[in-house]
Amino acid sequence: MISLTSFAIRCGFPFVSFIIFMLIFMCILKEWMFTYFSNYLLPEKIINEFDYIVVGSGSAGSIVALRLAENSNNTVLVLEAGICAGILFDIPGLTPLLQKSLVDWHYSTVPQKHGGWALKNNISNWPMGSIYGGTSRLNSMIYARGHPSDFKSWFKNDSNYLYEKHILSYFMKAEDQRGRYKSSQLHSTGGPLAVDDLPFITPFAQHFLDAVSSLNFSIHDLNGGENRGFMKVQANIKSGSRWSPAHHLLYSKNNVIIKTNAFVEEILFSGNYEAYGVRYSHFGNKFIVNARKGIVLSAGVVGSPKLLMLSGVGPKDHLEKVNVSLVTDLPVGDNLQDHITTGLDLIVLNKSVGLSLSDLLSPVSAFQYIFHKRGPWTSIGCEVIGVIDTKGNGVPDLQIMVLPTGITADFGAHLRHALNLKDSAWTHYFELFQDKTTVSIIPVVLHPKSRGTVRLQDNNPYSKPLIDPNYLSEPYDVEILLKGIELIKKIIGTEPLSRLGAKLNDKKFPGCENYTFDSRNYWECYVRHFTLTSYHPVGTCSLGGKNEKSVVNYNFKVKNTNKLFVVDASVLPTLPSANINAAVVMIAEKAADMIKLEDKLSSGRCYLLEVFLR
Ligand SMILES: Cc1cc2nc3c(=O)[nH]c(=O)nc-3n(C[C@H](O)[C@H](O)[C@H](O)COP(=O)(O)OP(=O)(O)OC[C@H]3O[C@@H](n4cnc5c(N)ncnc54)[C@H](O)[C@@H]3O)c2cc1C
Repeated sequence: MISLTSFAIRCGFPFVSFIIFMLIFMCILKEWMFTYFSNYLLPEKIINEFDYIVVGSGSAGSIVALRLAENSNNTVLVLEAGICAGILFDIPGLTPLLQKSLVDWHYSTVPQKHGGWALKNNISNWPMGSIYGGTSRLNSMIYARGHPSDFKSWFKNDSNYLYEKHILSYFMKAEDQRGRYKSSQLHSTGGPLAVDDLPFITPFAQHFLDAVSSLNFSIHDLNGGENRGFMKVQANIKSGSRWSPAHHLLYSKNNVIIKTNAFVEEILFSGNYEAYGVRYSHFGNKFIVNARKGIVLSAGVVGSPKLLMLSGVGPKDHLEKVNVSLVTDLPVGDNLQDHITTGLDLIVLNKSVGLSLSDLLSPVSAFQYIFHKRGPWTSIGCEVIGVIDTKGNGVPDLQIMVLPTGITADFGAHLRHALNLKDSAWTHYFELFQDKTTVSIIPVVLHPKSRGTVRLQDNNPYSKPLIDPNYLSEPYDVEILLKGIELIKKIIGTEPLSRLGAKLNDKKFPGCENYTFDSRNYWECYVRHFTLTSYHPVGTCSLGGKNEKSVVNYNFKVKNTNKLFVVDASVLPTLPSANINAAVVMIAEKAADMIKLEDKLSSGRCYLLEVFLR
């Protein structure tokens, strides 16, 4: 935030700086008052037992809390380590500035061997939300569901699996469609996740869609029946502002208590089996709070495995090494996978496309946003997405994301630091294009084969975990990126994009000077240097059947334990063919039903029919 203000001042935009300063001030004041009063008023000072404790208020945690609280007899406590922050954080156009700010966990990977060579020490930054709402307050808000075949493999031992009944119904339960697909049979309204058309879109999006149409790709709703083709993005936006399940939760329930700045340090077990409570810290004070019916970990793909391992649930050898007593030996932290991408600023145009830093910093844009909730401040960055099946076997393996901008847009002030880009890559490559219009048409590996791990550094809850996604360790992942670059070359060669003067940026990437530009070897060198996360890690507490190498079973219960569930991106055993937030929310809806059913079964209020419905 400070860098945002000082940057705006340096750019000579005192009006915008003043607005930003006031918004920050109001947020800090609100946060201080909330924290001050919550310290004295929140009932868990008096009540130290709830029916459910949900750890983390992100995309999944908010849904689970919301649904468990639908039974007004249940009391639900949400413990969130991050701060409670207000409207400033919901302005879509300011989203990139939240990375490396006070609402980011500041995670980063260990140095990567096979990729990321243009990043400082080969380390990729992994932003994640340390704020009420978690990463759903930091993300780019793209709403994309994935392909029906993605989910079948998640429940492969379940012979009753039906996409429409077991998956689509939960996407629809969560959705509040407010845009052009409102009346579609495959969308629904009234759910906690707002989905709308983009309030601001540049003319480049239509040029791009004309280009792919001319190559016979179809343009349609990728979240409806057919999932291959291209579409203008829909986003998690309501009236021009970010809207996540956490926003919905805030306005919905009385029997949910949300405690921010509450960092959970350990899950407490009795008899090395039943989870009965958690220990958490709130401004240096330690508290223990118990759960009668269950503890749901929704601390995210890094936070949940970290907390399980700190509490004795994890790989035996690793826990021994870091001096944590074993509760149960499970492959926690294994199976880490992430969508890999590259190619920012790879396309140069000879015409402007209508979104620049000066558009964002102009007082007119501020007024447009404040009074009409429109204009560049509502831009989410990505305007078009496409899903391609390069093998022609019906299963998508490549995503294309289209951004009318790149990291050169802010003249090196923030974005290159957010990516952890080496100074040499900036000065010898990106900085050279600052006076040009660059756009980003980026390929994403939808089903990478590289697998990594999350591990503890030591047994201190406040130490950062060791994150190793092992990027590009499998040649397949490089192949898909190269196929993506080939397709992008075809797209920019079409007439609609030639009219904008679109061409590949032919300055050789630092480190790849010895290869012939546009040769296969050049592109392999390029992707291994400019390897980027698409910010979609999953898999560290995988869902799976009894005999599978997994952490939670199909009821989202941690294996070999009782009353302990994991529900967040970490349970996704593989990546969907899409940005993952919609799938995380969908799986949380499904998990909430399972947890409710578990409650009925254990309280003896089981109906025969429900047993067959499982
Ligand atoms: C920059 C970025 C852009 C993205 N863009 C998109 C996009 O456009 N579309 C899309 O579909 N997906 C996107 N994603 C991915 C998506 O937002 C996440 O996958 C999703 O939000 C994950 O939800 P979650 O519930 O698993 O975890 P989170 O939302 O991260 O929630 C975890 C919560 O747990 C809290 N927590 C962690 N540890 C503790 C602890 N010990 N005690 C208490 N609380 C704790 C955290 O503070 C956090 O609030 C993006 C991600 C990033 C980082």
